[in-house]
Amino acid sequence: MKILMYAVLGDELPYIEKFAAVTGQQITKLTDYLSLDNVQLAKGYDAVVTQQTFDIPDAVYARLAEFGIKQITLRQVGYDILNIQAIHKAGLRASNVAAYSPRAIAEYTLTQLMNLIRHNKKYYRTTTAGDWTWKVGGQAKEIHELTVAVIGAGRIGSALAEMLHALGAKVLAVDPVYHAQNEAFLDYVSLDEALKEADVISFHTPLNDQTRGMANDAFFKKIQKKAYILNFARGPLIETEALLKNLRSDKLAGAALDVLPNENDFMNRVQDPKTVPADVQELMAMDNVLLSPHVAFYSDLAIKNMVEISLKDAVALAQGERIENEIFY
Ligand code: NAD
Repeated sequence: MKILMYAVLGDELPYIEKFAAVTGQQITKLTDYLSLDNVQLAKGYDAVVTQQTFDIPDAVYARLAEFGIKQITLRQVGYDILNIQAIHKAGLRASNVAAYSPRAIAEYTLTQLMNLIRHNKKYYRTTTAGDWTWKVGGQAKEIHELTVAVIGAGRIGSALAEMLHALGAKVLAVDPVYHAQNEAFLDYVSLDEALKEADVISFHTPLNDQTRGMANDAFFKKIQKKAYILNFARGPLIETEALLKNLRSDKLAGAALDVLPNENDFMNRVQDPKTVPADVQELMAMDNVLLSPHVAFYSDLAIKNMVEISLKDAVALAQGERIENEIFY
């Protein structure tokens, strides 16, 4: 089978080569994202695989179907970049890699929470400038004192909850889907209860019509003063202007963001900081805001699993087989 992989990163190459050697599949690697401009390169292939934060326009699906391709496979968890209805209308099937390493994202979320409560960004800046003094307000919270609300206790949210519980934090979960096994390390509550109680609010839901913009002005009115916000899921879950308002007024103690609504304007590029959007520049300038370039997933284990699971699934879908990771809606 001939497989075309879009948006391939250098660190994926050893796993791709190993998969090709073991299975005998012919794999071509491109560095560009899949788009209308380069979908014609898929002509003559049996399967396509990509990983990207850019939306895939509906017209791409029709072109893939014209080439006789039967699927589109993502190497990532979030599939908000796909229009599943349009994919099915074009006669294709779709899959993601629903769990390549939930711990990778959960561990990074925990790392950044630790950095936030310890004021590490500020201490890095002050010590680099030669200021080694202690100042009022520089003291930390300790993890075991905190109540953390996990919004979305799925694979990643529950992995984070389990680690926080092990460290002594109280964990509240907001999720319409109940998992009895999670009761060992979290308490299910309503969103309003969580916002009222939590010192830290961490987002781990998918991006969809129900969750887009869920952290808006009304949401921030319900939170405790001096709460921390963590977003390691999808940027558009939080309205940046509402977040900024609450950071400027000190209602929020800080935020750690691995994703931003406008990240495609600058992510994965080297760019003069003065040319990124104004709201991002304002976040960059705040000592109590940690930004990272959508790297929560970026671990060795995650990369290996993303490559191996996606390629295996792409082959299976192209052969008309059933797979666990198929996306139905
Ligand atoms: P998951 O499907 O396992 O869990 C998501 C959970 O959110 C589910 O339990 C679901 O019931 C719940 N949910 C849905 N709507 C909700 C709502 N309105 N309120 C509360 N809960 C709701 O997904 P996951 O693998 O845990 O991924 C979570 C998020 O992390 C996704 O947005 C994904 O795109 C993102 N992600 C980010 C990175 C990164 O590198 N930053 C990497 C992987 C995944």
